[in-house]
Amino acid sequence: MEEVKPTESPLEAAAQTVSSDTAEAFKLLADETRLAILLALWEEHEPLPDHNVPFSRLLDRVDYDNRGNFSYHLEKLEGSFVTQHTERGGYELRTAGLKVVRSIIAGIGIDDVSVNDVEIDESCPICDAPTTINYQDGVVLWTCTECDGVAPGVSEWGAVKDHMEGVLDLTQFEPAGVAARRPAQLRAASKVAKHQKVRSMFNGVCPTCSGPVEGRLEYCRDHDPRGGCDNCGWLLDLLAYFQCRTCEDYAIEDPKKLPLFHPAVTAFYEEHGISTRVHTEDPESARHIFDLMTDHGEELVSEDPLRVAVTASIDGDDIRVMLDETASIVSVNR
Ligand SMILES: [Zn+2]
Ligand SMILES: [Zn+2]
Ligand SMILES: [Zn+2]
Repeated sequence: MEEVKPTESPLEAAAQTVSSDTAEAFKLLADETRLAILLALWEEHEPLPDHNVPFSRLLDRVDYDNRGNFSYHLEKLEGSFVTQHTERGGYELRTAGLKVVRSIIAGIGIDDVSVNDVEIDESCPICDAPTTINYQDGVVLWTCTECDGVAPGVSEWGAVKDHMEGVLDLTQFEPAGVAARRPAQLRAASKVAKHQKVRSMFNGVCPTCSGPVEGRLEYCRDHDPRGGCDNCGWLLDLLAYFQCRTCEDYAIEDPKKLPLFHPAVTAFYEEHGISTRVHTEDPESARHIFDLMTDHGEELVSEDPLRVAVTASIDGDDIRVMLDETASIVSVNR
């Protein structure tokens, strides 16, 4: 049996990629003045090298009246979150400091942003009924008002329990992106965000932590195609799963959507005068691209090894993409 080394650190015991220094780093941030310093540095931040903020300007921005005390807080942040340029005497955010600020700006810890059952001008791809948009616990949910949706046997998604009935799509989305958009734009923006997340994971990089990603195709051999499958809980018998080995973030996608990440397929559409460009400001473009993907033909070519062919067809012209068990594209044929 493998010997497990005893550790003094509950953090290291919980996750080996996290060291006990992490608690110290978080402790440093549990102070309003220090967070104000980070935010002030960010306000002054320019995405250019050699840009730093002099002490006096920083003191002015934070509007703090005790110079000595301010220096003390600033020193505490140095090393982990802030760098001081010794020759020029200014301060700059380190990457970790920038990440903290970006999380604050994106709305981490804010839970008063919500959208409840707002109907949008997009009908259900399964039953054609009207659909609604909801936002709760950092997730945009697109839901059908009539049918059981794509995950009839899945009643909870992490902390998300409401609006799961009839769910058609779920996307993690920061609160900052919700407030500025109308429901139709929110739907389009969440589609773009999901598309980009899956694209990054499909290409092997976790968009959350940059760690390596593993993909796999799952085929439910005992599938009940009428929905509410007892075996898998999903409407579809074939799904692509992508999971980060480091932070365990993941994405689940219909394999029909994966070929668009291959340049031969986007070129195929371009040749036929069909754009595969998606833009948040144009909800029609988002709807159009996802219609294209759901129109792709899907065929289980082999169970062992698992091979699935996805075909796009326009006016009798076809392009066929083969996916293997790791949800990678192994061949493209025209
Ligand atoms: Zn429906
Ligand atoms: Zn099933
Ligand atoms: Zn990750």
